[in-house]
Amino acid sequence: MVCIADAQTASSSASLTENLAASIDPRIANRIASIKAIDNHAHPVLPPPDDEKDRDFDALPVDNMEPETDIVAWRLDNPQLPAAWKALWGFDGTAPLDEAGMKRLDAARRRVKAREGQLYDEWVLNQAGIEVMLANRVTMGPGIAAPRFRWVPYEDALLFPLDNSGLAVTPDKQLFFPLEERLKSRYLELVGLRSIPLTLDEYVGKVVMPTLERQHTGGAVAAKFEIAYLRGLGFGNPTREEAGRVYLKHASGGVPSDIEYKSLQDFLFRTIAAECGRLGMPVHLHAMSGGGGYFGIGGANPLLLEPIFNDPTLRGTKFVLLHGGWPFVREAGALLQKPNVYLDLSQEALAFPPRTLAGWLREWLETFPDKVLYGTDGYPFTSALGWEESTWIANRNARAALAIALSGMVRDGEISEERAEEIAEGVLRGCATRIYGKI
Ligand SMILES: [Zn+2]
Repeated sequence: MVCIADAQTASSSASLTENLAASIDPRIANRIASIKAIDNHAHPVLPPPDDEKDRDFDALPVDNMEPETDIVAWRLDNPQLPAAWKALWGFDGTAPLDEAGMKRLDAARRRVKAREGQLYDEWVLNQAGIEVMLANRVTMGPGIAAPRFRWVPYEDALLFPLDNSGLAVTPDKQLFFPLEERLKSRYLELVGLRSIPLTLDEYVGKVVMPTLERQHTGGAVAAKFEIAYLRGLGFGNPTREEAGRVYLKHASGGVPSDIEYKSLQDFLFRTIAAECGRLGMPVHLHAMSGGGGYFGIGGANPLLLEPIFNDPTLRGTKFVLLHGGWPFVREAGALLQKPNVYLDLSQEALAFPPRTLAGWLREWLETFPDKVLYGTDGYPFTSALGWEESTWIANRNARAALAIALSGMVRDGEISEERAEEIAEGVLRGCATRIYGKI
């Protein structure tokens, strides 16, 4: 179990350590450190012997995107890396590592993998005090299974059944759409089809619904959209007839116009969201700026989702804004007013140090304390920042940020210590239990 005091000792800056410690009530810190968390969102990689060839940790596992200006957390000289290496592998090194240092780090990792075997992924969770991790993966596999891991599959491929060549308008999307089409083919194969049916009714009845049903019966606890990587989050409300006409016109070929295709995607998104509500699978949406120099940041503004959240026919569906909405943190926070909308700290807790995260978190906890979920977004980012390191760092930052925010609220007389502990329990696991049921 990681405790806040350890996290501070491991911090790279002594003055920051003192400043953080001065902002944290030790009783609240101890309580937070003792809670086994439910991680709302991450991408664990299969343990050996499947770790090298595993690509199912993401529907869009892109290694060769055009250069972007990486956030500090993803850089090889991220100052948070050495503490994670030390804690996980007992490895001493300074970031960035040179070639020899990288080889030593790999060897240290391999030793732990060999020691833990099939239980390696569970061991990683134990290092961060995580009891259950929601694994956002195309498929699960040996070593990533219930009860410690619960499945969150991808639905975006279902939204793009037609010829997608007109959508590949940036170098990044030229990589993304072929990956979505490969996943679409896998989904079609699983319902016994080689190509899409000729009508929208058949597509929904023979592909979309059976895919969701298969995922649900296969243990999926939520459904993930990373659509913000593919288009904006603004969804219209076309009729079935409008969408059906577009589908019929292009099901056997031809490139739909942007306007035509968007109406079909919008209809399918609403159809899937409604079905997820019926099945009791909350909908997860990537709601933050994303990777890649061509990512459409403005299109990821969660306020664009308001018509979806305000649709009375979708009130039976729970929506979780992943990654806290950054840079639209206030917009994401305001949306928690909708009874079926939640947000999580994943990725934000990796990208931002505790003090910065604590500011946003405090505002959310002062307004909607029962709608915020802990999360890491552990992901194999780079050779230096694997899913293990990113889980460890995000966990440390999230718990420290939670301690700072709640301690501040107690010291300013906003809440009692008992209430602070209650809120901490809610963020770290209670809210997840309410949303997903017993997990
Ligand atoms: Zn993710």
